[in-house]
Amino acid sequence: MVEILWFRNDLRLDDQPAVAAAAAAGPVLPVYVFDDRSEGVRPLGGASRWWLTRSLAALDGELRARGGRLLVVEGRAAEVLASLARETGARAIHATRATEPWWGPVEARLAPLLQLHGWPTLQPAGAVVTRSGAPFRVFTPYWRAHVALGPPEVPEPAPREMRFAAVPEKPLPRFNPRWASGFAGVPGEAGAKAALAAFVPKVGAYGARRDFPSEEATSRLSAHLHFGEVSARACWHAVEGRAGAEDWQRQLVWRDFAHEMVRQHPDSHRVPHRPAFDRMEWTDVATEPGRGWLRAWQQGRTGYPLVDAGMRQLWQTGWMHNRVRMVVASFLVKHLGIDWREGEQWFWDTLVDADLMNNAMGWQWVTGAGVDSQPYYRIFAPVLQAERFDAMGYVARWAPEYGSLEAVAPIVDHREAREVALARFAAIRAAADACA
Ligand code: FAD
Repeated sequence: MVEILWFRNDLRLDDQPAVAAAAAAGPVLPVYVFDDRSEGVRPLGGASRWWLTRSLAALDGELRARGGRLLVVEGRAAEVLASLARETGARAIHATRATEPWWGPVEARLAPLLQLHGWPTLQPAGAVVTRSGAPFRVFTPYWRAHVALGPPEVPEPAPREMRFAAVPEKPLPRFNPRWASGFAGVPGEAGAKAALAAFVPKVGAYGARRDFPSEEATSRLSAHLHFGEVSARACWHAVEGRAGAEDWQRQLVWRDFAHEMVRQHPDSHRVPHRPAFDRMEWTDVATEPGRGWLRAWQQGRTGYPLVDAGMRQLWQTGWMHNRVRMVVASFLVKHLGIDWREGEQWFWDTLVDADLMNNAMGWQWVTGAGVDSQPYYRIFAPVLQAERFDAMGYVARWAPEYGSLEAVAPIVDHREAREVALARFAAIRAAADACA
């Protein structure tokens, strides 16, 4: 009897609970479904597609090395998998649990055959709760409770033996958006392992250097983690016991927190947690000057060196440094008064690590609209941020025409924009302070 192994954002063989379960049960039929059509699915952005199609090729390579291959099918996941199960007489469909809310109805339709295993996070959903069993709304107590549970389970190696069912030979898709020539990173499990191995010796400096965008002080594992090419707990244990590991493990716990947030608020990428933010009068981007401002932001032509360097790094490589993500997001929402959802969507289209959970949390946090956010009156000054985090090397690399960190012909004046933003946010202040 065939065991269908349904891959989603868990494109690896090591520490992959569905892989282990399917391999233990019988001959495996590994499948990935390109699904842009099921109810509620958010179609992938171009940069994510670039990464994904390469990651699928890498997974296919790993499976071929063991005598199997990956079947990639386009369509509605529930229909594709149900008919594949009928055709092959499959005993079960195995999948590792996923957080994206659109999978719920698909899983319900596959229920008679579907076996869900493991979690995409360090801890299972619902494990980190308050004493009264409620979800946390604020990160720091969530982190403490997470740590109090002890380390996540130790990662399991890939199964030693795998038997495979016959899979029809089909070409794998390969997606090349026109702007992708400079995208960075090596998609796939081997690339993820290499990135993790390169980062481990640097973890001791992470806490002190992670905010400096000119340096390579962070792990660059975000797309690997998003597509599940390495498990979060493998990352955790790779640094466990090293000096400074906790600073980095804390970021992995932010990722868990974002998953928890989307489980509580499945519409987090479009609905502010603080409803008052729906009453905000955002700059109209259908008319000028809003339309031009949004385009200038997207293209890295705002006149602020750090903002422009960040937006160009994003466009050219599909990735942006975390500190700069905060600065450019704050600039869009506060200096330009543009709805955070415009920025969230731009990131969704252009980041190779675009992630429903982390992206929504990042944007809600910067805006001040999230359950746990920076206060809306905190407005990053882009020049000051560039100075504080010594961004000259970064600016020289991505926006070399500036030659300094000072604004040149900025589309909005920092002081004026700040006043306007404060007035705009003050108008909804009382309501905004009352949390969702
Ligand atoms: P490291 O610093 O090495 O961190 C290790 C891992 O921890 C990351 O790969 C990531 O999985 C997780 N992590 C780190 N910071 C955060 C965070 N603030 N929230 C949740 N998880 C975190 N991250 C994404 O993966 N996808 C996104 O779409 C995304 N959009 C963002 C949008 C905004 C506006 C902001 C402010 C942040 C966003 N982030 C997003 C979070 C963060 O910027 C990236 O995870 C990080 O820059 C990736 O680089 P790294 O892998 O070198 O991270």
